Amino acid sequence: MDYNPESSFRSLSPSRSQDESHSYGNCSECKQKRTAVAWCKNCDIAILKENFCNWTSGNSIIDKFIRDTQLSANENIDHLEWIEFDQFDLVENINKRGAFSSIYSAV
Ligand SMILES: [Zn+2]
Repeated sequence: MDYNPESSFRSLSPSRSQDESHSYGNCSECKQKRTAVAWCKNCDIAILKENFCNWTSGNSIIDKFIRDTQLSANENIDHLEWIEFDQFDLVENINKRGAFSSIYSAV
């Protein structure tokens, strides 16, 4: 038996805190250490910030929530983006109405 569930679990879930020496390299723009693959917290969040004026969900509370996730993102899958309905290939009203809004599912 060479199957060891514990070691395969570890290899699938590398812990950043246990491996401080692991590096994603330095940003080519600002020379600071990247916090994730292809993610420089300085430069990429600055780009997101510049885009704040280019989108809106139409709801200032949702806008603020999305912006907060972008400003604290540590990697490029770690934040939300507002996507207009017409950017989805298929938007289907699944016909469940909440008290104040319709619920849509996008595929
Ligand atoms: Zn940078």
